[in-house]
This record gives sequence, structure tokens and C-alpha cells, in this order.
Amino acid sequence: MSTNQQDFTQLVAAGNELYPDGSAAEILTWAAANIPGRIAVTLSMENTVLAELAAQFLPQAEFIFLDTGYHFPETVEVAKKVQARYPQRFHWITPTASEIAAGEEQAEAKNQAGSLIQLPLYSRDQSACCNARKVLPLQRILAEFSAWVTGIRRADGPTRAETPAFGLDHAGRIKINPLITWDLPATDHYIEQQQLILNPLTKLGYPSIGCEPCTAKVAAGADPRSGRWAGSSKTECGLHL
Ligand code: SF4
Repeated sequence: MSTNQQDFTQLVAAGNELYPDGSAAEILTWAAANIPGRIAVTLSMENTVLAELAAQFLPQAEFIFLDTGYHFPETVEVAKKVQARYPQRFHWITPTASEIAAGEEQAEAKNQAGSLIQLPLYSRDQSACCNARKVLPLQRILAEFSAWVTGIRRADGPTRAETPAFGLDHAGRIKINPLITWDLPATDHYIEQQQLILNPLTKLGYPSIGCEPCTAKVAAGADPRSGRWAGSSKTECGLHL
């Protein structure tokens, strides 16, 4: 249940009934009018589409950037530009010492630390690292919100193909997914049309950008997310599970 202890099940069902395949404008406009409480927009800074859409259709939203400490410098630069360009309240979130320690404990519990302890956590246990640097910090900041906007696109891969316009996360907060009907070409078109802040890596073979140690270039025509945690079975950081 969210911080304000409301049950949003019926609200989510109503939104999905109205907009099962809604446009970003429809989904965000409905959210602005119907969802109570504070609404967050999580920004990966791979692109700035969500920032622009929220500024237009959900102006009360607040922006969140999860600074894992391992982002590409280009991504951090985009975050600074977004902070300067948009008037929305901006939360620049870094992991706390206790969250980092929780990741180490998680890895140790699986006996994956041992003599390799000098290596960074992402080299030993990516799930524990993502938990410490993304999942726990996001949970901490989202505790203040009743809903959050994500950039999930159904076209981004099989694990995302059934994403609804509105959902509930594990804590009962509403997840608003305005980009469900978008794909990469549609995203690129919007970025160009609106002259949005660009992450230059997207033009250099990185259609999906996460932390630098865990993001590889993607061959033309391949699954855009295949460069994330390439070489491992991991496909999600845990934020959307
Ligand atoms: Fe750690 Fe890689 Fe996850 Fe970033 S993407 S938090 S470096 S495991």
C-alpha cells in the first residue's frame, strides 16, 4: 500500500479500460486529472522524452534521476541539462552507505564475495549491485509518492510486451506507462520534432543505456535492450519487476 494508504486498484482498472492502448497525451492527461497525491517521473536520461511529455501533460510531476555512480558521463550531463531546462522539482538520488552495504551483504549471503571482494559489486553480483544502487534508492524516494511514470515501451522486448497503461507496483503505488505504444523510431521522431536534449550515446550504437560497466553497443537491427547486461541472463535491473 502506498504512503497515503489508498487502494488504487479501481483507479488503475478504470484508466486501463479507457486507454488500453492510449497515447502518451491521453494517459498523462488522465493521470493528471484523476490520480491523487504526488506523482514522480523516473528519468534514465537515455532520452528526455518523459521529461518533455510530463512538462506538457502532467506539470505537477516531480523528476527523479537515480545516480548509481556508474553512469556514463554523457548520461550525467543530460541529467544536469534536464535539471536546468525544466521547472519541475528534481530529485537527484544517490545510494546511501547502508544501501551499498545491503548489496554487499546480499552478495555475501550467496557466497559470491570471498576472495574476489576487491572487485566492484557489479563484477561479482549484478543483481545485488542493481538492488543497492537502483532498487533500494528508488524505493526510498518513491515512499513519498502515490504514483510514478515510467518509460517502459512494449516494443522494448518480450518482458515488456504486455505492459498496461496503468499498473500497481509491489507497494501499491500506481505505475503510469505513457509510452506503451511507442517504439524506437517513434521515440527518435519525437526527440527530433521537439528538439529535445539528446544523449549522444544513442547515436553511437547504444539504443538502451544503463550503467557504463553493464551496457554494450548493440548491432543494427538487434533487440535494442540486448546490450544491457550483455553476456549474462539478466534482462531487468529490478525497478520494474
Ligand atoms: Fe550495478 Fe550494473 Fe546494475 Fe548499474 S546496471 S547498478 S553497475 S549491476
